[in-house]
Amino acid sequence: MRALVVEDDARIAADLSRALGAAGFLVEGCNNGEDAWFRGGTENYDLIVLDLGLPGLDGLSVLKRWRGEGCDSPVLILTARGAWTERVEGIDAGADDYLPKPFRMEELVARARALVRRSGGRGAATQSIGTLSIDLNRMTVARDGVPVHLTPLEFRLIAYLALNQSRIIAPSELLEHLYGDDGSREANALEAIVARMRRKLGAGVIGTRRGFGYFLEQPE
Ligand code: CA
Repeated sequence: MRALVVEDDARIAADLSRALGAAGFLVEGCNNGEDAWFRGGTENYDLIVLDLGLPGLDGLSVLKRWRGEGCDSPVLILTARGAWTERVEGIDAGADDYLPKPFRMEELVARARALVRRSGGRGAATQSIGTLSIDLNRMTVARDGVPVHLTPLEFRLIAYLALNQSRIIAPSELLEHLYGDDGSREANALEAIVARMRRKLGAGVIGTRRGFGYFLEQPE
């Protein structure tokens, strides 16, 4: 799962990156509105955390532009304490959730996860597919009740497939959500990870449709 953090306060930005990184997100940061507008409009994020108080182009304008241009990533806005009008304007402009500053990082992470689950059409923190159980909060996977050890990268892959169960995911899209905009990764890197995961999870879990991509196999 890929997240964009837009925050001009370097300390808060670092805390956010650390907390979301520990929660399994691949985090990219940016500290001004112009940059944020460009990235949100050209890249695909599973979550965007947007501070409204930005220098130059403010967060609310960025959000309006994204929504106007068809960017439909879930957006959590960070607002100034007590500024209820800002929250209302933010939600009206298309924010999915908000947190007033200062906030507890635990709460931000919980809301971030909930947003990602809801945008995948799945409210529950634990997804069961056949004998596989994926806990999106604890970032654990069990097969027939037995925990399976996955690396953070492997977990991101299985979580992304679980959150997008209704469709087949193209390799390019999966790579983007695993590695971000580092364009050097190739499809055979993905094939290697999938092969490794099939060994860990069993052969009938991750399906391939040649020429289209990957999906989670649904039990009969
Ligand atoms: Ca700020």
